[in-house]
Amino acid sequence: MMRVVLLGGGYVTVHAYRSLVRRLGREVREGRVEIVVVSADDAHSFHGFTGEVLAGLLPYERTRTPLQEACPLARFVHARVLAVDPVARSVTYEHIADGVVELLWFDHLVVGTGAQEPVDGVPGLREHGYTLRAPGGIAALTQAVHALARTARDDRSTGSTADPAATSVVVAGGGLAGAEMAAAVADLGGGTLAVTLVHAGERIVPELRADQPALAARTERELARAGVVVRTGTRLTAVTPDGAHLDDGTFLPAAVVLGTVGQAPVPLPGLGSTQDERGRLVTAPDLSVTGDVWAGGDAARVVRPGTDAPVPANALWAIKTGAHVGDNVARAIAGRATRPFTYRGLGRAASFGLGRSVAELYGVGFTGAVAWVLRLVFFLRFMPSRRRALAVLGDLTSRRGTSASREADPLRAKVEVSLS
Ligand SMILES: Cc1cc2nc3c(=O)[nH]c(=O)nc-3n(C[C@H](O)[C@H](O)[C@H](O)COP(=O)(O)OP(=O)(O)OC[C@H]3O[C@@H](n4cnc5c(N)ncnc54)[C@H](O)[C@@H]3O)c2cc1C
Repeated sequence: MMRVVLLGGGYVTVHAYRSLVRRLGREVREGRVEIVVVSADDAHSFHGFTGEVLAGLLPYERTRTPLQEACPLARFVHARVLAVDPVARSVTYEHIADGVVELLWFDHLVVGTGAQEPVDGVPGLREHGYTLRAPGGIAALTQAVHALARTARDDRSTGSTADPAATSVVVAGGGLAGAEMAAAVADLGGGTLAVTLVHAGERIVPELRADQPALAARTERELARAGVVVRTGTRLTAVTPDGAHLDDGTFLPAAVVLGTVGQAPVPLPGLGSTQDERGRLVTAPDLSVTGDVWAGGDAARVVRPGTDAPVPANALWAIKTGAHVGDNVARAIAGRATRPFTYRGLGRAASFGLGRSVAELYGVGFTGAVAWVLRLVFFLRFMPSRRRALAVLGDLTSRRGTSASREADPLRAKVEVSLS
């Protein structure tokens, strides 16, 4: 029997699994090939809808698909990987439930453990702040901002003037993720939460600025419309229980500080010699790292076909690299030659509320309702569960009402859908 071990429960794993089953389904069903998924999270998180979750437009659980459901023919091990031995071809992991440490042999290993924010670079961020990629990070952040919105709404309805810090949120990092999250929190508050976006560079969304300046400008306008205060040219230096310290000497009192301060691959001891200076596993054109170890997504450095530059760390590339790795592992198992990764890209998108997005598709920029629909279609197409994708579509297209009531019950709340 051959064993393929998939590390992580994100986009790389789910799409590698699908490719493997498409090519080797019979062997898997007959027990000649075993697929094992080892993940610290027992569900696949569809990160793209995090803004909608924060804004109270979607329940958090809607964005999560249990891995057993997403990968039904695989054996699922709910565990944190501690180390990989590429020579002995083994993985050491610790079960989440009881801490028991075990070793598993592999014939092929696919690394899809993604990346996390380098929290240690900002004192206090781990203890007093929030990040998006830490285990449970999105759930904790959602709970915190929804509680703030409730407090702010209660204060408004009783006419009491609470300490402004108690209804203030600081988002550090003005990339697309930070901009989306700031807009989502402001949207949730409906004017009752004070949201500040802090960015170290001169202008926010640098990833759009160079080749899509109109989309970058639209992003700035969307934040202004949502009432987000943008502070550029200053960076977050420390987080305390009361707020955020910036490197220009300012202290911003806040009840919630979110750090979207870059990302670094999850370290996997044993694979150090195959990493670049940023900790990404360096892949060959067929996405192998060594003969039997493969990688994709945020954990990997994959050269964008036709260029010398690495592909961006986002869901599209994680999906496409994961699917390609699955194909090549199946080819290797069948004794066939592997193929180089040739995918050249599609685009990117971000959303700032219902009907309000920016999107780039094959180099062409879109804004507003068209961009929102393009983004939604893309996301729904790649959700691991058809059932959940339909439920998300229903949630997002059937809402009417006002934003300030959403967080109380995201399932029943109604918000205005404006596609103008
Ligand atoms: C809040 C947020 C919003 C985003 N929005 C967008 C967007 O709108 N569009 C877009 O294209 N991209 C977006 N991204 C980026 C995109 O989600 C990532 O690029 C993508 O998830 C990378 O996929 P991956 O499979 O490499 O890793 P992930 O999807 O991050 O999966 C990694 C998996 O590995 C598991 N894991 C980690 N360490 C271990 C360990 N030691 N042992 C076992 N398991 C482990 C994790 O639990 C997780 O299951 C967003 C990311 C975030 C966090």
